[in-house]
Amino acid sequence: MSVLRGKTALVTGGASGIGLAAAKLFAANGAQVIITARTQPALDAAVAEIGDGTLAIQGDVSDLAHHDQVAQGIRRRFGGLDIYFANAGVIVIRPSSEVGIDEFDAQFAINVRGVFFGVQKVAPLLRHGGSIILTSSIASNKVLDGHAVYAGSKAAIEAFARSWALEFKHRGIRVNVLSPGPVDTPIISKMGVSESERPSFDTALAKVIPLGRLGQPEELGRAALFLASDASSFVTGATLRVDGGISLA
Ligand code: NAD
Repeated sequence: MSVLRGKTALVTGGASGIGLAAAKLFAANGAQVIITARTQPALDAAVAEIGDGTLAIQGDVSDLAHHDQVAQGIRRRFGGLDIYFANAGVIVIRPSSEVGIDEFDAQFAINVRGVFFGVQKVAPLLRHGGSIILTSSIASNKVLDGHAVYAGSKAAIEAFARSWALEFKHRGIRVNVLSPGPVDTPIISKMGVSESERPSFDTALAKVIPLGRLGQPEELGRAALFLASDASSFVTGATLRVDGGISLA
């Protein structure tokens, strides 16, 4: 398959989980892929999986200068961009009464500010026919215990996407949201679930997911590929839930 032949695609948080799965699929479908992540060892390991021609740029999405650096690097090497998958994100689960201002700001700095200024600074490189994809979460519209800050941050980017779908239509660029349910990625361990707790955590979670299991990163990657490619040429301002039906439960 080569549905992205001739396209250049940037994936933030492309060194693990959903971002890595999407980057691999984009490359396998003919795209020139650029990934970003915070640490060089993670980037090096990801490039080994995605393919040698992959450009890796280290940095933190909450740092505005990082987005300038990414934009400069892409302009210099490729002249422009076709797909911007703003996927990097973090989750902290805690009762609202226990959330301090630093923790609140840190989560919004990555999940909200990082997406907003990434699009502001990198989207000028997008060519006509381009696609912006933002990774949200089903937490944005499903009430989950201890998720208030995370849910608020993801609801914000869904609102950005609706506004941007109109702003970017003048340039022939589509803007959509990928909204995952529970997916088997390293983020689960960052939710405070230890390796030994994983089997019982997964079993309990699977019981409330109509399809009876967690999602795999590749299943989200395939949905990102759909939104990135011309297969979704009449889709903009949409939120694509890929959640095994948990939103209905
Ligand atoms: P992951 O932890 O494997 O991937 C997150 C990526 O974001 C990592 O590569 C990480 O390095 C990067 N990242 C985090 N903070 C960053 C920062 N400050 N600067 C640059 N990069 C940063 O987990 P994942 O599940 O693949 O998460 C991808 C996206 O999917 C996130 O936005 C997450 O909120 C969302 N999501 C995941 C799930 C799930 O169950 N896995 C569910 C709903 C939404």
